[in-house]
Amino acid sequence: MIRAIYPGTFDPLTLGHLDIANRAAILFDEVIVAVYDAPPKNLLFTTQERIAMWRAAVSDSPKISVRAYTGLTVDLAVEADARVLVRGLRALSDFEYEQEMALTNKRLAPDVEAVFMMSSHDYHYLSSSRIKELWMLGKPMREMVPPHVGVALTEKFPPKG
Ligand code: ADP
Repeated sequence: MIRAIYPGTFDPLTLGHLDIANRAAILFDEVIVAVYDAPPKNLLFTTQERIAMWRAAVSDSPKISVRAYTGLTVDLAVEADARVLVRGLRALSDFEYEQEMALTNKRLAPDVEAVFMMSSHDYHYLSSSRIKELWMLGKPMREMVPPHVGVALTEKFPPKG
């Protein structure tokens, strides 16, 4: 039985994130989406909102569960008895950060293996930050988020005029 953790901020959830979680659920027996409670960045959505977005999106996927966490991701992995940390890789710019993080995590928890999944073609340049920026500027990319996330974004950034 291999349990994997897919950690992130998910502010907000995009179809790129969902694609990684669904593909991970094909590979592993269980996938825990771990929503980082207090990252050192300003967030648009609360932890409860980010969790609710995920739960609504994976309600038909029995292998995927969603929870919040604080502290080190590897501590959560050990606590949850998860052997795998899943991360998505987009353009080359993700690589250096992810490599540094993976090597640090390996030192902290040698039994936890990082597995990187290449983003799908359509989502290669998709990020939560870009989604927020475009929504704020009145150019919502609705096709890149689940419908309920689009509704939540429009509540935060109502159309002007
Ligand atoms: P973090 O703050 O941990 O980077 P994010 O919410 O930005 O959290 O991303 C969580 C994970 O999802 C990371 O592994 C990130 O590389 C991956 N990810 C983000 N956007 C995409 C995407 N469009 N396609 C594939 N993976 C993605």
